[in-house]
Amino acid sequence: METIFTKILEGDIPSVKLHEDELCFAILDINPVNKGHLLIITKQPYPTLEACPQPTLCHLMQLAKTADTKLRQVLHCDATNLIINNGKASGQEVPHLHLHVIPRYEQDNKTIHLSKETYTDGEMAEYGKQLEF
Ligand code: AMP
Repeated sequence: METIFTKILEGDIPSVKLHEDELCFAILDINPVNKGHLLIITKQPYPTLEACPQPTLCHLMQLAKTADTKLRQVLHCDATNLIINNGKASGQEVPHLHLHVIPRYEQDNKTIHLSKETYTDGEMAEYGKQLEF
């Protein structure tokens, strides 16, 4: 399947590439939350986490750690957000697995707002029973 990220990988769309190896590559996000916001992308266009083999996923997370260190060292950010929008309903725009690594600063006034719910009596335990793994 062709996606905007496979086109970037093939060089058909320009990008600022930060890393490439046999399983993954990393580029700067074109519309950063903060400058330096990067994407770690699987070379194979797995649409979501479910389709991604475990070794590739482990590698993706190792790269996330390297990217986090780099962002802290070079940009002196105070923290990072690591985000995978996993499926259309979660806000995923590009159906090709990628992890956002976003540099964050104490006073950057950026918010990720997901409104929260509350459980009724006994409901939380019921969810817990169903979701054990
Ligand atoms: P998501 O909503 O998780 O699928 O995120 C897709 C991300 O890809 C967005 O943050 C976009 O800004 C980014 N994006 C889309 N096109 C490009 C591009 N040509 N180069 C770099 N980043 C891109």
